Amino acid sequence: MTTIREARWLKPTPFDYTAPRTLAEAVALLGDPARDTKVVAGGQSLIPMLNMRLARPELLVDITRIEELAHLTVDASGALRIGAAVRQARAAADPAVRHGWPLLAAAISHIGHPQIRGRGTVCGSLAHHDPAAELPTAARALDARFVITGPGGSRIVPAEDFFVATFSTAVDDDELLAEVILPPPPAAQGWAFEELTRRHGDFATVGVAVLLERDSATGLVRTARVVFSGAGPVPVRLSAAEDALVGTGVDEAALAAARSAALAGLDPSDDVHASAAHRRETAAHLLVRACTTAWERC
Ligand SMILES: Cc1cc2nc3c(=O)[nH]c(=O)nc-3n(C[C@H](O)[C@H](O)[C@H](O)COP(=O)(O)OP(=O)(O)OC[C@H]3O[C@@H](n4cnc5c(N)ncnc54)[C@H](O)[C@@H]3O)c2cc1C
Repeated sequence: MTTIREARWLKPTPFDYTAPRTLAEAVALLGDPARDTKVVAGGQSLIPMLNMRLARPELLVDITRIEELAHLTVDASGALRIGAAVRQARAAADPAVRHGWPLLAAAISHIGHPQIRGRGTVCGSLAHHDPAAELPTAARALDARFVITGPGGSRIVPAEDFFVATFSTAVDDDELLAEVILPPPPAAQGWAFEELTRRHGDFATVGVAVLLERDSATGLVRTARVVFSGAGPVPVRLSAAEDALVGTGVDEAALAAARSAALAGLDPSDDVHASAAHRRETAAHLLVRACTTAWERC
């Protein structure tokens, strides 16, 4: 255990730091009721928060040296399993991810800069849950399941229940997100991830993930998945836009109907970065672009 306590020139409040080698050790540390403890993974969101004193934990538990959490594998069922120690850059470069889950690799490519992706973890971004972040939106679109481990063992939470509110998920203080599981992709699937940022590498004003599955018999859309980021406190799945696409060949009429569904169904908020009206218009525009690209890739 390293104590970072007397350095008055540091920006954060004093804290202890430890890097356990097993998941059981990490869980025991997080479950200690006597200490305000926090997981640190890539540190790309947490360290700025410590520096701004928005978080003041007494103990940081670094989970990136835990071998059990370092896996990035396709299991016997064809699902992709990403452990909590896996960095974003590693996942984006992985051949299995690029082949089977290209939407995930594309979403990661929009995160910050190479230095951020080289340190930040996939699970860290999901657990942090910034509503403008790319990975929660991609995970929702890909029907992810989340393995949460704590003193009582592990439980699996589906994506629709994992993201609770801005910066809040189903992970309790004495638990950690051990792994994210992405189900096997359908064979004839097209994908696209589009977003608007003020500058390259910034958090997006608004973004959208689209997955379209082509029916091999009819040649039309069999299933559609449309999820927006920056349009609410959690990733927003818009079933009205999905309904507008299913059974079509993503022609002009279908795109117009999906666009109308986005304009009618999205309720983003105003903030210093953009008005709600600008966000809604942009989201609808990005949706049309993403649907067109996804269909071309089907
Ligand atoms: C300059 C800059 C630009 C960035 N741009 C973007 C961007 O465009 N898009 C984007 O999405 N992100 C962006 N980020 C954030 C980046 O993606 C972070 O890596 C990510 O949000 C957090 O991942 P991490 O592994 O660094 O987590 P950490 O910073 O270590 O932790 C973040 C929070 O999640 C918790 N946590 C981490 N891992 C777990 C776990 N396994 N279980 C439970 N809790 C956990 C921590 O306790 C902490 O509260 C940017 C960061 C910087 C510094």
